[in-house]
Amino acid sequence: MSYFSDIIQGTKSLLTGMRITGNYFFKNFLTRKDVITQQYPDNKDTLKMFDRFRGEVTLAHNENNEHRCDACTTCEKTCPNGSLEVIWDKYKDPETGRNKRVLVKHIYHLEMCTMCGLCIEVCPTNALEWGQDFHHASYDRGQLTKVLNKPGSKVVAGLKG
Ligand code: SF4
Ligand code: SF4
Repeated sequence: MSYFSDIIQGTKSLLTGMRITGNYFFKNFLTRKDVITQQYPDNKDTLKMFDRFRGEVTLAHNENNEHRCDACTTCEKTCPNGSLEVIWDKYKDPETGRNKRVLVKHIYHLEMCTMCGLCIEVCPTNALEWGQDFHHASYDRGQLTKVLNKPGSKVVAGLKG
């Protein structure tokens, strides 16, 4: 008797599952509403990740190709696995006559980054932010090492941390 009731129970449970799947398919998929499954990589040119997505660490630049990094190296010291290298140089500030640091290269080893976000949190000038690109697959690890400051960029004038 239990054999037959198990079959009935199993069939009922299967039909319940199929009903939910069917509803999702016909109501949501065909009308393209609330579809969570992405047709990746077919849609990789149009796929936009959600705002909180952590794709990679980036150095923000404004429309004048200026960033907010004064090469303090706090992010480099904070990163738990050495994914950042801040290379800097000194120059004499013409206004104060004091030596100041200038960013030469902000190097990011994406292949080692765990996306913990500590570097972004500790940056005193809010220079770093999350980028949303996630197409990082590569046969060459060297391509995962990036220079975050763009060519020809400079620090924004009058920066205060
Ligand atoms: S990104 Fe921020 S924490 Fe890192 S060196 Fe530049 S100013 Fe300092
Ligand atoms: S997100 Fe974390 S692991 Fe990645 S560079 Fe920043 S501090 Fe390092």
